Amino acid sequence: MNWDEFSHWGAKIAQWAAEYHTTLSDRPVRPDVIPGEIAAQLAPAPPESGEPMEGIMADFERIVMPGMTNWQHPRFFAYFPANAAPPSMLAEMLVTTIAAQCMLWQTSPAATEMESVMIDWLRQALALPDGMTGVIQDSASSATLSAVLTMRERATGYTGNRAGLHGKGALRIYCSDQVHSSIDRACWVAGIGQDNLVKLPGTGPRFAMDPAALEAAIERDTAAGHIPAGIVAITGGTGVGACDDLAAIAQVAQAHDLYTHLDAAWAGSAMICPEFRASFWQGAEAYDSIVFNPHKWLGAQFDCAVQFLRDAEPQLNTLKIEPEYLKTSGHEVTNYSEWTIPLGRRFRALKLWFLIRSYGLDGLRARIRNHVAWAEELAAQIARIDGFSLTSGPILSLFSFRAPGDDAAQQRLVDAINADGRIYLTQGMLNGQKIIRLQVGQFDTTREDVMMAAEVITEVWKEIS
Ligand SMILES: *Cc1c(COP(=O)(O)O)cnc(C)c1O
Repeated sequence: MNWDEFSHWGAKIAQWAAEYHTTLSDRPVRPDVIPGEIAAQLAPAPPESGEPMEGIMADFERIVMPGMTNWQHPRFFAYFPANAAPPSMLAEMLVTTIAAQCMLWQTSPAATEMESVMIDWLRQALALPDGMTGVIQDSASSATLSAVLTMRERATGYTGNRAGLHGKGALRIYCSDQVHSSIDRACWVAGIGQDNLVKLPGTGPRFAMDPAALEAAIERDTAAGHIPAGIVAITGGTGVGACDDLAAIAQVAQAHDLYTHLDAAWAGSAMICPEFRASFWQGAEAYDSIVFNPHKWLGAQFDCAVQFLRDAEPQLNTLKIEPEYLKTSGHEVTNYSEWTIPLGRRFRALKLWFLIRSYGLDGLRARIRNHVAWAEELAAQIARIDGFSLTSGPILSLFSFRAPGDDAAQQRLVDAINADGRIYLTQGMLNGQKIIRLQVGQFDTTREDVMMAAEVITEVWKEIS
């Protein structure tokens, strides 16, 4: 492809993108396909000679698009959002065009320096203390793994990487039973082991772990000769939005000199609004490591996970490796690949810069405030449907409910709602019971889109019962 053709197709694709987004509301949120249906339409072997773009693009529309779930659909109420605001898409086009590998300061000074400044913009936006630094990672899972590895190394006097874990005793990490599966996986991969991830029950209206129970578990483990290594707290858990008492948990950690990681992957975005901080952010400043995903609610195109660090040293002592071919001579600079597990790095800061400048914090706050208010209104309306009841929340913009009947009835309702296509939501488990989970958070959703969920749920429920 020559650059004239590139320019032609680039313009065509930008036009396609605008049309896609302005007509999204008329499409079903989730595609109506069966497993294997898309693969069966793709050529089983690669072509020997090149094909014209016309044909490739036509096949993209014909084969690929009918098999895509429309995450940017204004009536996407499943999982959590993966918002891609238009300015962040444009930034990603530029990043793709320059195609720089930003592993070291000298492999793209602007990328590194903008990353430091964007981390600091977000630190201020989330009211975190002066002096906290951080790094942009691909996912909350990677940030959590980095923090768990740091817990491991710190608890073993930074000998695990060199000598392995043999003979080091059982390293223990504490959290509630509401944590995301990425915490389990981090413990598997770090060599801690699932059995050494101590999960305390999340109780009360916010499904929080009990600080006294945490304290007791640490003391029991110490008496048994185990080695407490760290605590993972959450604000805005994935299932039902569980929130730990951050200040109380941090106090327990300090008393036992434990490293702390706070998973705010979803709810972190809402902390740009001062009014939510009293309930969800008190004590966050005490955490050694905090992760939040601007690629979820804030509007930065996937992927973009910010990890804040109170002191970067422990994580650098854990992950920094500097073979000769990566050494940079001259000035003292930040090389962000030393802060993370992968070496290669995309230029993720640019989309934050475009996003935040384009909307301003006030523009982003307005969206999040609307989502929270509309979720409350919708939850109240669903609670009024005959026989329906709320089972959690709303916590920020996430709540769950049950229709009359057993677990199978809940799943039937979810499946029928999603087959209808106008909205998309998912099921979950809470206290051993199946629940129906709904979050409001798509960047361009309107009050009408949100309230349509009550209509669809009522109609579909009548049809199937
Ligand atoms: C989404 C989510 C994660 C995982 O995020 P990835 O960036 O996909 O790894 C972890 N924790 C919570 C609370 C989440 O909501």
